Amino acid sequence: MTGSSQKCEVLVIGAGPAGLAAAAAAREAGADVICLDLFARPGGQYGMQPASPASRFEAVSQVAEGRAAAARCLELGVKLLTETEVFWAEPGFRVFARQGQEALVIEANQMIVASGAMERPIPFDGWTLPGVMTAGAAQRLIKANGTLPGNSTVLAGSGPFLFAVADTFAKAGLRLRAYVELQGLGSRLLPLFVRHPSRLKEAAGLLRGLRATGASLHRRHVVVEALGGQRLEAVRLAPIGGDGKPQRSRSFTIDGVDSLCIGYGFQPVIDVTSALGAEHRHDTLLGGWRCVADPLTGATSVAGLYAAGETTGIGGAGPARLSGRIAGLGAAAGAGKTARADEIARLARQLADARDFAQGLARLFPFPGHLVDELSPSGTLCRCEDVSRADVEAAIDDGAGDALAVKMWTRAGMGPCQGRICGSSLAELVARRIGVSVAEAGCNRPHMPLRPVPLSIAGAALAQADGGCIR
Ligand SMILES: Cc1cc2nc3c(=O)[nH]c(=O)nc-3n(C[C@H](O)[C@H](O)[C@H](O)COP(=O)(O)OP(=O)(O)OC[C@H]3O[C@@H](n4cnc5c(N)ncnc54)[C@H](O)[C@@H]3O)c2cc1C
Repeated sequence: MTGSSQKCEVLVIGAGPAGLAAAAAAREAGADVICLDLFARPGGQYGMQPASPASRFEAVSQVAEGRAAAARCLELGVKLLTETEVFWAEPGFRVFARQGQEALVIEANQMIVASGAMERPIPFDGWTLPGVMTAGAAQRLIKANGTLPGNSTVLAGSGPFLFAVADTFAKAGLRLRAYVELQGLGSRLLPLFVRHPSRLKEAAGLLRGLRATGASLHRRHVVVEALGGQRLEAVRLAPIGGDGKPQRSRSFTIDGVDSLCIGYGFQPVIDVTSALGAEHRHDTLLGGWRCVADPLTGATSVAGLYAAGETTGIGGAGPARLSGRIAGLGAAAGAGKTARADEIARLARQLADARDFAQGLARLFPFPGHLVDELSPSGTLCRCEDVSRADVEAAIDDGAGDALAVKMWTRAGMGPCQGRICGSSLAELVARRIGVSVAEAGCNRPHMPLRPVPLSIAGAALAQADGGCIR
């Protein structure tokens, strides 16, 4: 197999709201820019593009925004590469990607990582049954592929994203059996919207969407078990007690369920920034481990490397776009182009305001990491390597002192997902068992390859880069 190579002044990884804003800003400042994404169409998660122009989601405002941002990049002369997934990166910068069935090596003077967010699942009994999926997976099935997750669906978890998914269900004309939210909320939302009245219209629209699904509402409840033989058949719910824990003695079952879509919010995607050695910090309000970036330039602790959007902390599409533009101007300046100081100051003010709203929401929906305690000892924690909660706890009791040691001991997090699914819960479990903070329990270390890639493509990338450069 052969590979190809390209060069640019500024490389942007990720074509979501942050990456597209970054690419446009860097190009406007005069830099030669490549922006790549693993998806078939640019737009990222917020601007997720349907596979067919005939989709009823084609006219939705988020989709139109994603389309417009990509069109603007093309008009400016940004080289947009889709279906291109980065599986390794070296400082300097040399980036190794899979483009369809080909290998691609890109050399860039400056680099912006805008790799977005991923969901933050919490394992529970029965979570590996067919029919159980994350809320984001269900949304992608519907929006991008026009496929419904099932005919009798429960949407559960915690956080504002569940409203967005319910709205997607409503737009697809799907009725929901039940909507299960861990928090009570009610009047606690009011002060936030008094401080940010411009967000009320969006929130009201999402609530209307939830109502249109016809779901029965279960506030302060949580899914404790998915039940079924070969696939999902029922869901067991328990109310939350005054101590914040599920009250199993008062649990009940919803029968005749064929799909359970469950989400507890997002965590930053930091595999590329970690591989490049940038500084990361654990921040509970921003989704856990995030890449540290300068608010006025997007610069990370690695020279020439910038980060934007959810990679720098969970905040939604608004902060993603603003931080993307800031990083684009920062990287262009790093490549010797001139950026306008007055624009940067204005963007930084807007970013601080947008982040204030996001953090207010995050305070109302804190990540319920303690729910990992509800998993039975025989319950699966890492499904790639089939590691149970008992396996993990045995390793800790035998002396594994942090998440990395548990990974070495048990192989939890060593499978194809590289800990993206189980890593956060593994750290929670370690922290709770040893009695340290989740930050002290440690984070997943990146290894080559960051993403599953055929050996033939990795080999072709190596040959393209003259061999020997990939550690
Ligand atoms: C599943 C999911 C669904 C969401 N849906 C909504 C929603 O409906 N409404 C809402 O307000 N917010 C939603 N969000 C939150 C969303 O993250 C932000 O609102 C917004 O999209 C963030 O913009 P971003 O540019 O930082 O990241 P993203 O939009 O996530 O863009 C990052 C891009 O980077 C690409 N990427 C990552 N790693 C690589 C790699 N190694 N190689 C190549 N490409 C890579 C990804 O494919 C992605 O397109 C969703 C998040 C997720 C995870």
